[in-house]
Amino acid sequence: MISARTRSVAETQELAGALAELARPGDLLLLAGDLGAGKTAFAQGFGRGLGVEGLITSPTFTLAREYDGTRLRLHHLDVYRLETMAEVFDVGLPELLDEDAVVLVEWGDAIAPAVPADFLEIRLSLGDADDERLLELRSVGPSWAGRTRALHTVLEPWTTA
Ligand code: ADP
Ligand code: MG
Repeated sequence: MISARTRSVAETQELAGALAELARPGDLLLLAGDLGAGKTAFAQGFGRGLGVEGLITSPTFTLAREYDGTRLRLHHLDVYRLETMAEVFDVGLPELLDEDAVVLVEWGDAIAPAVPADFLEIRLSLGDADDERLLELRSVGPSWAGRTRALHTVLEPWTTA
């Protein structure tokens, strides 16, 4: 587990952009945290790090959006409104994971039981100050566990433990 802190939305985006350097095709990132915690902000910085040029917006009402990054393609999902696990499959998550792209899911902790146990979980929460956010990163399964050292290195500017 890696703990980090940011003090502005720009800093959260920078952190996510730094993390994107480690992304590989087929990666799954599950973002957890309440409304306003910064999941979409994180996705924006992450997409920027993959070379996505346009604005990444919240997919709350569209469920899933696809972005072409110069480095990797990004599928950005928000499953807040999904009511059953069956709907996760309607969104086509298993197929998206088979593509040469990165899949990032807001409210992803809700679907963790329904996806392969191989992902990076990023939990965001509010800090003490208004613009402070706390992030906890936990790798589940082999693909991110193998990048633990690299994760520590790229996140070093923001880590607290
Ligand atoms: P979520 O997708 O989790 O609901 P958003 O990313 O849409 O959250 O919104 C986060 C809100 O919090 C934005 O209004 C953003 O400007 C604000 N904010 C303030 N400080 C931070 C920070 N350190 N990191 C991320 N967002 C922050
Ligand atoms: Mg959001």
